[in-house]
Amino acid sequence: IGSDLAGVTTTAVRDGDDYILNGNKTFITGGINADLVIVVARTSKDPENRRKGLSLLVVEGDMPGFLRGRNLHKIGMKSSDTAELTFDNVRVPARNLLGEEGKAFGMLAHNLPQERLSIAITGLATATAAVNLAIDYAKERLVFGKPLADFQNTKFVLAECATELQAGQALVDQALIALDGGTLTPADAAKVKLFCTEMQARVIDKCLQVHGGYGYMSEYPIARLYADARVTRIFGGTSEVMKSVISKSMGL
Ligand SMILES: Cc1cc2nc3c(=O)[nH]c(=O)nc-3n(C[C@H](O)[C@H](O)[C@H](O)COP(=O)(O)OP(=O)(O)OC[C@H]3O[C@@H](n4cnc5c(N)ncnc54)[C@H](O)[C@@H]3O)c2cc1C
Repeated sequence: IGSDLAGVTTTAVRDGDDYILNGNKTFITGGINADLVIVVARTSKDPENRRKGLSLLVVEGDMPGFLRGRNLHKIGMKSSDTAELTFDNVRVPARNLLGEEGKAFGMLAHNLPQERLSIAITGLATATAAVNLAIDYAKERLVFGKPLADFQNTKFVLAECATELQAGQALVDQALIALDGGTLTPADAAKVKLFCTEMQARVIDKCLQVHGGYGYMSEYPIARLYADARVTRIFGGTSEVMKSVISKSMGL
């Protein structure tokens, strides 16, 4: 389904006490190891409103017809598995319906702000780690007979990064207070994800540059942060989708 959440084509057709589930989904985090997966499937069609008619079904790992593809090779986030899942006439008991039939879109949309905030927090945390790594490295590494940290460029780059972190922290704090109070809007969650993940990319890139060639070597933690960071602007909704959500809230 990708960016188009209502574009689900997986179907679940009622047959007695069961649903017959057919379809597949690429890119499922934890899909290789999961014992239970929650599948969004279309249980009815409303040509007027694609958001209607979606339901959540809990599929158990050993149900016949539930197939897992290979663990997909990624450029980062290698400690988490990502799988393609296929549902080939899986017979799912109706008691495995999660929530009300046809109400999945609302349930999914309800949880998106929290998911997006958690990705923003990861962005902020890893950018903070990158700055700490770069400070340590800059103090240790000698170039032209003095520590890298003594050069004005290094100080300025890291000062820019620290300012970015503080801006991200302010947005995260504000969003956490709103989440806690039940008032985090989709647009505000989109803003914090957009800012923190784009900021994460800028900051980690600058911190890698401070490491020079060593920053490009896999054994250096900054290299892993760089590779892992790339996906946060994609999953949980891309930066472009975040901008769409924000602009919609502006009446555009
Ligand atoms: C490592 C990884 C793990 C993932 N884990 C999960 C998971 O556990 N569960 C899950 O459901 N999904 C998961 N995903 C899927 C992820 O949410 C999608 O990849 C993401 O939403 C983008 O969808 P897509 O890949 O189909 O790209 P597309 O939707 O095809 O987008 C392609 C490009 O077009 C742009 N675009 C699309 N629509 C618009 C628009 N309306 N306006 C402007 N630009 C647009 C996008 O921003 C993007 O740049 C995962 C993805 C990855 C890479």
